[in-house]
Amino acid sequence: MEYLKVSILLLLGVVFSISSCKDDEETCIETVWYEDADDDGLGNPDVSQFSCEQPDGYVTDNSDTNDAGGSGTPLSAFDDFNPEAVTFSFDGNEVTIESNGLPNHTSPYWEDTHPLHIEQVVGDHLTPGRINSGSFTVTLPLDPQLATSSSATGLGAIGISVTGAPIFNDEEGPNRPLDEATALGFDYAGGHNGPSGYHYHIESSDVPENTILSFDDEQLVGIMADGFLIYGRKCNAIGDHPADLDESGGHTSSTQHSDGEEFYHYHIINEFYINSYILLFGGDLQGTPNTIF
Ligand SMILES: [Zn+2]
Ligand SMILES: [Zn+2]
Repeated sequence: MEYLKVSILLLLGVVFSISSCKDDEETCIETVWYEDADDDGLGNPDVSQFSCEQPDGYVTDNSDTNDAGGSGTPLSAFDDFNPEAVTFSFDGNEVTIESNGLPNHTSPYWEDTHPLHIEQVVGDHLTPGRINSGSFTVTLPLDPQLATSSSATGLGAIGISVTGAPIFNDEEGPNRPLDEATALGFDYAGGHNGPSGYHYHIESSDVPENTILSFDDEQLVGIMADGFLIYGRKCNAIGDHPADLDESGGHTSSTQHSDGEEFYHYHIINEFYINSYILLFGGDLQGTPNTIF
C-alpha cells in the first residue's frame, strides 16, 4: 500500500515537472483573427485581433462583406437535404447547389420497375413522362439580403427542395395558373411531370404513404432562388402558424437550424389556393433571384 502511494506521488511529480517544463518552452505564435458577429463562419475584415488561440466569436476567414447585417443562412439547414440528390460546394460567402432532381420518396411518377414506384393514391390522372435524372445548379449567397424591390418568379425551377426535386410556382405555362384539373394530376408529394421533368407546385398530402415531406409542420422544405430557406406552414420559433408573414410568406425569426439567431426565411403560406390545395410558393422573391440552370 505504502509502495502504491509513493508510486502515485512520484508519478504526479513527473507529470508536474513535464507540464511546467512545457509551459516554459512553449512558444506562442500569434495569428490574426477576424470577428464573426453574425456567426456565419465568415469574418469581418475590418475587425481583427492577434492571439495564439482562437478568441470567442472570431474566425480565420476575412471574407464577410456584411458581418453586421444579421445572421446568414444557418449551415445546418443543408444537412436536411437528400444527400443522394443534392450536393453543396462552399466558396467564401457563396454556396453552389447541384441536384439531379431525383426525389427520395415514393411516387406513381417513378418508372413501374423503380423501387420507389407506387400506385397513385391521390388525384385522378398522371401527366406524361416519368421521373428522370436532370440537372439543377444554382449559386446562392450564404448571407442573402432582402432586395429593395421584390421579383416575380417565372416558369421553371424557382427553388430546390430538400428531396432534390425542383420547386415551381403557381403557373403551369405562360399566364396559365394552376387549376383544379391540373392539381388532380399531382402525386401525394404535390408534384407531377412536365417537359422539364418532375417538380413540385403544392404542399404534400397527409396520407400514410407520405413519410418524409412537410405537411402542416415546421420542416425545412427547400431553398429558393434568392438564397432564402423555405419552411413548412409552422415556424419553429413559435411552434405554430406564424401571423407576421409578408406577402411572400417571409418573416425574420429563429428556426430549428439557427441556434436562436433570427434570419429571414419563407414559409408555406397557410391558406388554400384552389379548393384544398396549398401552394408551396406563389409570391414574389424578396431577395435577388439567381438563375437555376
Ligand atoms: Zn408543373
Ligand atoms: Zn419562421
